[in-house]
Amino acid sequence: MEWDGGDVRTRFLTLASQWHSRHPAPSSGGGRIDGPQPGQWMWHPPAHSIYDSHTYEGPDDDWLEVAIRIENADYSPGHCRIGASLAVACRCEGGHGQHTVVETLWRSGGPTAALEALTTVLRSTDQWLAGSRRPDWWRRTAGLA
Ligand SMILES: [Zn+2]
Repeated sequence: MEWDGGDVRTRFLTLASQWHSRHPAPSSGGGRIDGPQPGQWMWHPPAHSIYDSHTYEGPDDDWLEVAIRIENADYSPGHCRIGASLAVACRCEGGHGQHTVVETLWRSGGPTAALEALTTVLRSTDQWLAGSRRPDWWRRTAGLA
């Protein structure tokens, strides 16, 4: 299978629409994370990065953010890294933005492996959020103040 194959693109768009249907609201995570900003999902990982996130607001300005990322592994052409993370607002004195409480990262060579990794990563985010969508719950689970 090639990166630009029709079947590959169709599977990717199906996975992208799964994510978007679960996280339909516009992200409010802007400015909290360095790096690529949320945008349109485009296939061809050799050429594009994908970054998207969704924030669940809690009481007292608390928040939980789920983020997904697909990017090139620049040192090996055609490979990409696919990952997701869950983070909560930082409550430290002299805050540093956010604390990652759980994450998963895969590295894949070739489009089939990349799609399988993306499927697994999306399933992980579903499982995390099935546990709870409340920042205070994740904060306690991670042992954060
Ligand atoms: Zn902190």
